[in-house]
Amino acid sequence: MGIGNEIKDKATKMAINAVLGRYIDFIVKDPEQNFDKAIESLKKLEHTIGGTDNLSKFADWVQKNPGSRQWLINLFKKDKHVVKTFFTNFLVNVNLGWIKYNKEETISKNGFAAPYTILISPTMRCNLNCIGCYASEYSRQDDMPIELVDSIITQGKEIGTYFYTILGGEPFVRWAELYPLIKKHNDSLFMIFTNSTFITDKVADQIQELGNVYPVLSVNGWEDETDYIRGKGIYAKVIQAADRLKERGIIFGNSFVFMRTNFDQLTSDELYDFWIEKGAFFSWLFLFMPVGRDPEVDLMPLPSQRKAMGDFVRSLRARKPYFLMDFWNDAPSVGGCIAGGRRYLHINSEGYVEPCIFTHFATDNIKEKSLVDILKSPFLTDIRFHQPHSDNLLTPCMIIDNPWVLREVVAKHHAISTDKGASNLVVTKLAPSLDEYSKNIHKELDPVWETEFTKNIEEIKQKGASHGEGLDRLWFQNNPDKIFEWAKKYPFILDYDFLQAAIKEAKKLEKADVAAGK
Ligand code: SF4
Repeated sequence: MGIGNEIKDKATKMAINAVLGRYIDFIVKDPEQNFDKAIESLKKLEHTIGGTDNLSKFADWVQKNPGSRQWLINLFKKDKHVVKTFFTNFLVNVNLGWIKYNKEETISKNGFAAPYTILISPTMRCNLNCIGCYASEYSRQDDMPIELVDSIITQGKEIGTYFYTILGGEPFVRWAELYPLIKKHNDSLFMIFTNSTFITDKVADQIQELGNVYPVLSVNGWEDETDYIRGKGIYAKVIQAADRLKERGIIFGNSFVFMRTNFDQLTSDELYDFWIEKGAFFSWLFLFMPVGRDPEVDLMPLPSQRKAMGDFVRSLRARKPYFLMDFWNDAPSVGGCIAGGRRYLHINSEGYVEPCIFTHFATDNIKEKSLVDILKSPFLTDIRFHQPHSDNLLTPCMIIDNPWVLREVVAKHHAISTDKGASNLVVTKLAPSLDEYSKNIHKELDPVWETEFTKNIEEIKQKGASHGEGLDRLWFQNNPDKIFEWAKKYPFILDYDFLQAAIKEAKKLEKADVAAGK
């Protein structure tokens, strides 16, 4: 970027920050009274500040979901510094920064849209020894040097990624190093997954002072389940941590692993009412995945439970002031699987760049190549070209819903297994069971997709693509003349059906060039 553009860019950011700051001041004065007024007023500015109609769409959605509307109002009742930092970083950097990067010219230059978030595991060490976890097999020597964590964030910001998810291991074992680093990158958001045991009063004070850290407390349900998996007394520590965060007005949430055995608990209003009262703002639901030390297909939720969970999640969001998200059932809202850098990727403590947090395979290490070069790697490019892995966006996953996709891509690009558990089993020994699971999940969810998600199907058709969002792929469809250039580097892209029409167009252009004597 030239100096002139950089100055303009900075000035625009400052102006937007100033405007947003005013709005936030106005809402926090009296959130219940002022929230709707501020949204109505902001809608009038959306084309000036974002160049899109996203705010209008957002406002309509808020009005239709009273639970979500109240959730947002409650957000403005948190600590004022935390609220201000969240909204300015989230709206200006995380979203506008990302949109700005993903302009046609940058996609054309690199062939990909920047990841919306980058997951980093600075350590795999942990002070607990939970059932099924293999963190105890890692030592301090396996930690990622803090300078490398800094470099990943700096490289990410250069391509428009301002949202970092930090996990492990237990990230807070390295809080003394992470705290100054997060302070340095105070224009970004940091969501930190934690077992909660390190959130003392002092750490909670520091999180409040930073304003850009959002802890996600891991639990397994109520006290009995959590202590059974994590050790006696751990649930009580989680609750203490929640109390400390609530007292300081910090935005935080929790995460649950959805298994075949805890469906009833995770679909009870009582659980979320409890966490709303505890001050949590969101819960992330992760499906139990057959990765880790003892991968078990039989613990994965049944297809009928996945369907029922989707209904429950959507209903809870509409009814309660709480944001519950199930990454698989909510996949239609992001166009399916987001791995491979399409919207996110994971860099493990040893520097291996994995397509997602559950796909423990890699072809590259960030210690040897830049982030941009790794995003351009054939392995990640192939995954992005293949997305969505299914026309049914309720079955997005290349590990469990469409397991042949992962097997093929790992074999084709000679990706290596990157953990000390037994995750390579998903492409070997567990393949027959996963194929069976996949058959059953499609049987259950394909009719649901076709009858209950007609609006999503219509939207996809309107975009002129047989796939979800696929910014990268849409770009190639709209720029057929680039196909051959890219195919020299990535010959496998020519195998994709969706490129056939573009290839025909490109051939016509070539012929026209020849006819014109160029
Ligand atoms: S591979 Fe599965 S778990 Fe990973 S991002 Fe895609 S849908 Fe999610």
